Amino acid sequence: MSQTPLSDSIHGIDLEVLRAKYRRERDRRIRPDGLRQYRSAAGEFGYYATDPYVPRADREPVTDRVDALVVGGGFGGLLTAAYLKKAGLERVRLMDEAGDVGGTWYWNRYPGIHCDIESTVYLPLLEEVRTIPALRYAQGEQIRRHAVALAEHFGLYPEALFHTRATALRWLDPDGEWLVETDRGDRMRATYVVVSPGSLSQPKLPGIPGIQDFRGHTFHTSRWDYAYTGGTADGELTGLRDKRVAVVGTGATGVQVIPHLARDAQHLFVFQRTPATVDVRDNRPLDPRWFQQQEPGWQGRRMDNFLASITGEPVDEDMIQDGWTSTSRLQRAYLSGVQETGLPRQEQQLLDELLDAHTMNGIRSRVDRIVQDPATAQLLKPWYRYMCKRPCFSDHYLQAFNRPNVTLVDTADHGGITRMTESGVVVGDQEYQVDCVVFATGFDVGVSGVLSGTLPVTGRGGRVLLETWREGPRTLHGFYSPGFPNLFHLGSLQNASAVNFVHILHEQARHIAAVVGRAEQLGSRTVEPGPEATESWQATLRQVAVDTTVFQAECTPGYYNGEGRTVRPLNYSPGPVAFHDLLARWRAEHLDEVIAARPGSAGEGSRAGAGR
Ligand code: NDP
Repeated sequence: MSQTPLSDSIHGIDLEVLRAKYRRERDRRIRPDGLRQYRSAAGEFGYYATDPYVPRADREPVTDRVDALVVGGGFGGLLTAAYLKKAGLERVRLMDEAGDVGGTWYWNRYPGIHCDIESTVYLPLLEEVRTIPALRYAQGEQIRRHAVALAEHFGLYPEALFHTRATALRWLDPDGEWLVETDRGDRMRATYVVVSPGSLSQPKLPGIPGIQDFRGHTFHTSRWDYAYTGGTADGELTGLRDKRVAVVGTGATGVQVIPHLARDAQHLFVFQRTPATVDVRDNRPLDPRWFQQQEPGWQGRRMDNFLASITGEPVDEDMIQDGWTSTSRLQRAYLSGVQETGLPRQEQQLLDELLDAHTMNGIRSRVDRIVQDPATAQLLKPWYRYMCKRPCFSDHYLQAFNRPNVTLVDTADHGGITRMTESGVVVGDQEYQVDCVVFATGFDVGVSGVLSGTLPVTGRGGRVLLETWREGPRTLHGFYSPGFPNLFHLGSLQNASAVNFVHILHEQARHIAAVVGRAEQLGSRTVEPGPEATESWQATLRQVAVDTTVFQAECTPGYYNGEGRTVRPLNYSPGPVAFHDLLARWRAEHLDEVIAARPGSAGEGSRAGAGR
């Protein structure tokens, strides 16, 4: 790890000089078109989003009724479906645009794919499903197989609909259920609907002039074309041995895929705009006996420990001890402001900044130690604060630049690639002739169809959700809104998050299932928060909000800060551990308040009231 005790780091760091350098580097990369520089993989770019893994089969439209419909078959949707079944619902249907479950792990199968969070805390329900991860940081294919195992274990396949996109949700007042329409002509009914859109499935492309003129081969990393490259996610891309390959993007995906492209392509051009922070990976096999030796419930304890460690909560012991737990203070600065240590805020901010500088110095000197050519090493050094970009870990990435067949092309002064031609990629005036361009350019992050409008939602009395949310989402705890009964949202929305996002989704799934289970127990089948509870939650969010925009404004552009716009949605700043405690208390004291009284029972009507 690059982080060492703070006391060692203060000497020799001139924060004023460093801040000025960071600002200069940021300014080189800020683009006036911000988020508009990208193109979604739709319409004329729809080719980049097609499914290369599972052929789309014809089927008849479905017009039946289920207890719950879960839109999204990633870990969020899978876990919610699993817990709803545990809560007693019989017909639970998963729906996904992909050809199977797995979400981002269905789509992303590029060579070298791994999860950078330890598998013992990332893969959910290991004890129940009896998966034993082979590696400390699991390969993508093992993660995808675990998602399939979850779907099998909870009997979710018979009802599931794949290659299917929900196109409209309409609440049918008299019947007290949802009508769900899809792009396959389905018109099914569901008592409960859960929307788990995921955030890393919809590829995005740079809006490079001439991108459509390129006559060579091209694809996005999340739709890897093994028919062209040969090989598997383990590498051996034999189809590239006589190819000049360009890869655009050096984020967390680029860092994992580039060592494989470097090894197998005749020549690799890496087009970089902002260098990644790349620290030690230290992946290794896990001993299956270790799993047998653990006391039941070990995974929950380990997950809780990891979540607490990375969000700066007190823990007796750091069970994971990796690059995430050793940088918790730096993550906290990004997620919810400075860590509460009892020191005056300004002093704490200064200490955090010094620690950040020390960590980044370590990462920059690692580049010098590994990369032999000094000019290339210089270009690979990241000049921004640690959490401005997703931190990366690799023991092979920087080493790839020592190969004679790899050329690093820095595009920072040009705002990225200048244009593409029929036969290559142009930066400034220089054209690089290539056979293939691989876009490792990321995703339309956090774009839920509900928020973007591609999944229109009509609630009670014809109320349109996006009109109700014109000034921004208004939910109770991020889950649901008045006027839209039995509709639940998963993901980052008016709640608290952390880097091990599957844990966050896991807690959300449990919460939704507890609420639905209680509604079923009471024979109500109607869940809806009241306006007062929802407004009270908005007030709580505002009251505890910590302003992270100052930190973000100084950051190099990227999707973390809206490409430099620094607009942050309102979330629960005290962090996920406090949020999960809050939810547990709420379930103990207020759960019945979001459950409408059973028709005909005493006190008929919504019981919705308190929010916390
Ligand atoms: P990112 O959005 O993080 O990276 C996109 C890359 O494309 C950046 O390097 C960006 O440069 C570059 N880029 C975009 N436009 C241009 C252009 N016009 N010219 C040149 N370069 C350009 O996407 P990733 O797929 O790498 O990662 C997305 C997320 O997926 C991660 O943040 C992480 O959350 C997740 N992930 C998680 C993994 C895990 O192990 N758990 C592994 C891989 C991904 P610039 O930075 O300058 O904008």
